[in-house]
Amino acid sequence: MLYIIANWKMHGSKTFVQDFMHAFSTCFVPNPKVSFIICPPTLYIQSLCEQIKILNRAFIQVGAQHSFAGTETEAAFTGEISASMLRDSGCQYLLMGHSERRQYFAQTEAQIVQQGRSAYNAGLVPILCVGESLEQRQAGQTFKVIEGQLESFLSNVGVDFETQDTPNLIIAYEPLWAIGTGLVATPVQSEEVHAWIRAYVEGSYPLLAKGLSIVYGGSVKPGNSEGLLAQPHIDGLLIGGASLEAKALADIYAKAVSI
Ligand code: PEP
Repeated sequence: MLYIIANWKMHGSKTFVQDFMHAFSTCFVPNPKVSFIICPPTLYIQSLCEQIKILNRAFIQVGAQHSFAGTETEAAFTGEISASMLRDSGCQYLLMGHSERRQYFAQTEAQIVQQGRSAYNAGLVPILCVGESLEQRQAGQTFKVIEGQLESFLSNVGVDFETQDTPNLIIAYEPLWAIGTGLVATPVQSEEVHAWIRAYVEGSYPLLAKGLSIVYGGSVKPGNSEGLLAQPHIDGLLIGGASLEAKALADIYAKAVSI
């Protein structure tokens, strides 16, 4: 399955959600080939769900950017929001391991595993972000870093990925040096890593590999999306900055449909 995933990060307002959805509705042509997900700030999940309902756009799915990193669904943890609350608010997906959370909020592998556990318990599909820094790439450590991130999640998340009812997972390859920097990994650079990730999952978790989608993220724009989407192991895109512009996002979606 192909995915176009919008990550609005800490952008927006109630008015923005309304305006965006109205503009988007006029230029977005849905297609069953490509799933479409918006991850707004947590506070606007409900506004987005309301707009989806009002505008009758049920093919737009909703993801959250963050959740409490623990298995409790309700507890005395002031300020936290559990995965089950996100599910109750209308989310179907949950981003985790995003480099901005790892880098600016000291998110650890153990916390990402906890988020994964609670996402699966709540019925949310994890969108697990992995990727190397520029220094790690230059030191030839890209695959080693990604293997560590994947293995930490897959072997500790508490799911038996070797059974018939293996749950869904989306992996987002997001090289740190390409996020919000304007530097995009070339189609060849990203395809190399995507192919490696797929081979790794096929080797260690063959059942999971069957339903696995691996999306690319990092300074994607309408102008560079086509070359990335044309790669055989790139199953879609995770888009930050450009996803705040309805027309740009609809264009990228249309390119995914046309591949
Ligand atoms: C992201 O937030 O995951 C991302 C890829 O951001 P940008 O497209 O702005 O680089």
